[in-house]
Amino acid sequence: MIVEIVSTGTELLLGHIVNTNVAFLSRQLNNCGFDVLYQSTVGDNRERMRNILKIALKRADIIITSGGLGPTQGDITKEVIAELCQRPLELHQASLKRIEDYFVKRGTPMAESNRRQAMLPKGSVALPNDVGTAPGVVLEQDGKWIVSLPGPPHELEHMFHHQLAPFLSRNFDNQGHIISHIFHTYGIGESLLEEKMMDLILEQDNPTLALLAQSGEIIIRLTAKAATEEEAKSKLCAAEKQLRERIDPYIWGCDEESVEEVVAALLKKTGSTIAFAESCTGGLTSHLLTNIAGSSAYLKGSLVCYSEESKVQHLAVESNVIKTKGIVSQEVARQMAIGVTKMFNTEFGVGITGWAGPANESETADKIGTVSIAVTNSQAQMLSETFSFRGDRMEVKTRAAKAALHLIRQFIKQKKYN
Ligand code: ATP
Repeated sequence: MIVEIVSTGTELLLGHIVNTNVAFLSRQLNNCGFDVLYQSTVGDNRERMRNILKIALKRADIIITSGGLGPTQGDITKEVIAELCQRPLELHQASLKRIEDYFVKRGTPMAESNRRQAMLPKGSVALPNDVGTAPGVVLEQDGKWIVSLPGPPHELEHMFHHQLAPFLSRNFDNQGHIISHIFHTYGIGESLLEEKMMDLILEQDNPTLALLAQSGEIIIRLTAKAATEEEAKSKLCAAEKQLRERIDPYIWGCDEESVEEVVAALLKKTGSTIAFAESCTGGLTSHLLTNIAGSSAYLKGSLVCYSEESKVQHLAVESNVIKTKGIVSQEVARQMAIGVTKMFNTEFGVGITGWAGPANESETADKIGTVSIAVTNSQAQMLSETFSFRGDRMEVKTRAAKAALHLIRQFIKQKKYN
């Protein structure tokens, strides 16, 4: 079954709101095995909405609209659909009763315009709205289906789960299952990664395989479709095995996993403690780690040592090293890491120093994005690296914090000391 999602609302076209409804609906419908092949967005304009719906009716079996079911004159979705399908709008008594009850329950008067929400195209089925006033609408037209859902995300999501999903499973054959798995990689560029899995990319059919650059990392998405969930899972399992044969050392996590979760789990598992000396990241790495509940078990403390003096005074970084190697250097990051390990008496210590930008002195302009990070342990073993990140100040800070977490992960996991 081919589905097209038609999002309505001029505010979407103006970029005033982000279209989260389309992402939600696509995810849900794909999970139920429907092929969402088209997504369109149109403003609150009758002619353009009619044209979009006409196109959608030609290429999709099910059209799902979001928005424009409200009580005001600008809410035109139902009217346009009714006109296009030549079905007059009729008062739906049960929906009117629900709307009246909604206002009685809240003790607020109902505006006359709310009656408009109970006007549905002749022959359509109403989807009751338990959390708002506008009912959803399902209409069959020449073997195609048009479904209209309200725009507010909590109403749309509630209606999908409680009304539309059961309706779809009652009225359409089992569409099979589509399952995706995401693999997060680190330490390898997109082209090299592609080269290593070129045969899989060229041969891909079901599951499909896609490489995506996202927030400074390369992720791989495997998507399988099958009649049953078990079959889809077993297809994914076989494809994952092939993938890991080629690039396993670069994969650090799956699906929703974050690097801070992985590091937190490693610290917990090894019963280790850690401390951070953060300069350019301003405490962001510690913040990410403290987002994980229970982090006090391993994160003993951190120092935001932004100035040169604070690095010298609190962490015993040598002025001579700063002068000869530069404030952003692996040598300084290493001394910061050693200093903070002693300060908090931990198993691991991390030093982060870098230029986050933007430059206000011409001599640092070419250095923006350069960040040196060092991880040490109580036996003074060390792993350090200098990175060159692109992006604005916040992006550089975020990438530096994530890189620090990856360095810790590598240090603990692979015992990659030097
Ligand atoms: P209402 O009864 O509130 O008027 P409606 O069905 O007419 O609902 P719209 O008026 O189109 O829906 O949208 C109401 C609000 O819902 C918008 O202001 C916006 O905040 C949110 N919204 C609408 N469409 C989307 C979307 N595609 N993604 C995210 N939010 C949306």
